[in-house]
Amino acid sequence: MEIVVQKYGGTSVADKDKLEQVCLKIIEAYNKGESVVVVVSAQGDTTDNLISNAKRYSKKKHKREMDLLLSTGEMKTVAYLTMMLKDKGYDAISLTGEQAGIITNGDYGSAKVIKVIKENIEKHINDGKIVVVTGFQGVDKFGNINTLGRGGSDLSAVAIAVALEAKECCIYTDVNGIYSADPRIIKKAKLLKNISFEEILEAATAGAKVLHNRSVGVGRIYELPMIVKSVTEEGEGTKLIHINKETDMLENYGPKIITKNDNISKITIVGDSLISYPEYINKIFKIAAEKDFQIIMITFSEISINIVVKNEIAEEFICLLHESLMEMK
Ligand code: ADP
Ligand code: ASP
Ligand code: MG
Repeated sequence: MEIVVQKYGGTSVADKDKLEQVCLKIIEAYNKGESVVVVVSAQGDTTDNLISNAKRYSKKKHKREMDLLLSTGEMKTVAYLTMMLKDKGYDAISLTGEQAGIITNGDYGSAKVIKVIKENIEKHINDGKIVVVTGFQGVDKFGNINTLGRGGSDLSAVAIAVALEAKECCIYTDVNGIYSADPRIIKKAKLLKNISFEEILEAATAGAKVLHNRSVGVGRIYELPMIVKSVTEEGEGTKLIHINKETDMLENYGPKIITKNDNISKITIVGDSLISYPEYINKIFKIAAEKDFQIIMITFSEISINIVVKNEIAEEFICLLHESLMEMK
């Protein structure tokens, strides 16, 4: 039997009615004779709410406890969905990231998936069960729960699909597929029938949150057939393709997607002849390396250095830069 992995995002599982629709999609695939592994996100704004609630209990960063807290969102969805499938007479089983064998590297809040130990999922598939797995989470070698980064349920689905050598990984979401721009902002955005892994990887990294960028990266390396489509609307959605294999390159060039990113900040350091003094640039990279800060982009000119980073580290970075570059002079 061929395995299909279906992933349902937060809006698509937001309440009981939405979960009823999800059940129909799962059952449709199961009744076609496919082995179905389902990966789900937390319902609606659950993850955002957990993050803001935590701030009421502590103002400090408790990375390990935050990951434990955030992982509960997906666990609830998995439990509800599995109960509903069982009530409809289908043999389903709920699995946490750990139970599904998703092993991560211990990097709280943005963990990498090291491997998927597939035996447990496979056992349940072989027993004829629909397997329902929490997205967004794995477990490190010490048994700590790690989350994979915001939007990371896509990555869970792709990692599982790769491990199981699934026929396809279908990312069900709240729009009809991948468009030439965010259809919620640009009403005239065009639905793309297909897009190359390379193009959507670039667009997702630049802010097009329809797919988690690392999920595209993993799917691309392992040549996983991936489709993005709507839960509610009929239609083919958007297929991710490998340019050279599946199309004529010449038919595929030209602008495909335009996007913006609200999650990044630009830090600018101004001062005469900056470019002539490499020690300043070296200090910037030293701070980034010591704190494990990701520099997304950096540009230099004679009188300024511009550094692009994620919003959540911008304030701490600017404090450290001030301390290192201005206060030590
Ligand atoms: P899910 O909860 O299903 O993972 P996300 O909110 O993460 O859904 O991603 C879907 C959203 O991505 C859409 O609602 C849309 O607003 C946004 N989006 C941004 N850029 C694009 C794009 N180029 N094509 C489609 N959707 C896009
Ligand atoms: N629930 C997580 C988030 O909101 C993961 C996901 O939805 O993919 O980021
Ligand atoms: Mg998403």
